[in-house]
Amino acid sequence: MIQIDALPAFTDNYIWLLQDTANQRCAVVDPGDAAPVLAWLERHPGWQLSDILVTHHHHDHVGGVEQLKAATGARVYGPAQEHIPGRDVALDDNASVRVLGLDFQIIAVPGHTLGHIAYYCDQPETPLLFCGDTLFAAGCGRLFEGTPEQMHHSLERLAALPAKTLVYCTHEYTLSNLRFAKAVEPQNPHIAQRFDDVTQLRAHNRITLPSTLALEKLTNPFLRTTETSVKEKLDERNGTINPTPSTVFAGLRAWKDAF
Ligand code: ZN
Ligand code: FE
Repeated sequence: MIQIDALPAFTDNYIWLLQDTANQRCAVVDPGDAAPVLAWLERHPGWQLSDILVTHHHHDHVGGVEQLKAATGARVYGPAQEHIPGRDVALDDNASVRVLGLDFQIIAVPGHTLGHIAYYCDQPETPLLFCGDTLFAAGCGRLFEGTPEQMHHSLERLAALPAKTLVYCTHEYTLSNLRFAKAVEPQNPHIAQRFDDVTQLRAHNRITLPSTLALEKLTNPFLRTTETSVKEKLDERNGTINPTPSTVFAGLRAWKDAF
């Protein structure tokens, strides 16, 4: 049984901490800063950091990797197509890795960066997805390196995973993402409800993650590009006809960039 907690870092990052309590071993995902992880290890004597999973090369995801590796000897996994400091295992699409007894499948999700990968664990009851800055709660990552078509395809691959999959993304952006979602779909009751729920959580400084794919499909505009209401909203806004879900996605992303 693996317990998963978030270690906050910087202003809005989360470093996911996976804990194998029986063996007192743990792993972290995207440690942009070593300090919160080292502080946790200090509070938990006897625990060993065995693995570090990295989704992409941005500093807020890899900044703590080398210090943690030097301090603990942890093995570092990361995307093969990017420069990842201290990487021991280079991962390509469809690779599989076993971490703390969990089997993860690698899904290449280019868009935010070109080599970005996600880690998916197909556990029967609670499948897990660590998707970095690709799929956010009610949003998606900015396109720093890839094209809208690439990102749209990446999100389609993630959306095809089981609806009950728990989505562990790396930033607390949910509330601002939902403000945008409300602008795209003012009549969507699921978005309205989630906006209220998340407003409450944030008012108490609580985390809004993990999400589920089921909830994302109901409330995340970037997974709703085939909805007539989303397409029509964009057609109306841009004064053009968006012929495909991919062009709807591109229009949404450009709108959100300026929102
Ligand atoms: Zn990033
Ligand atoms: Fe980030």
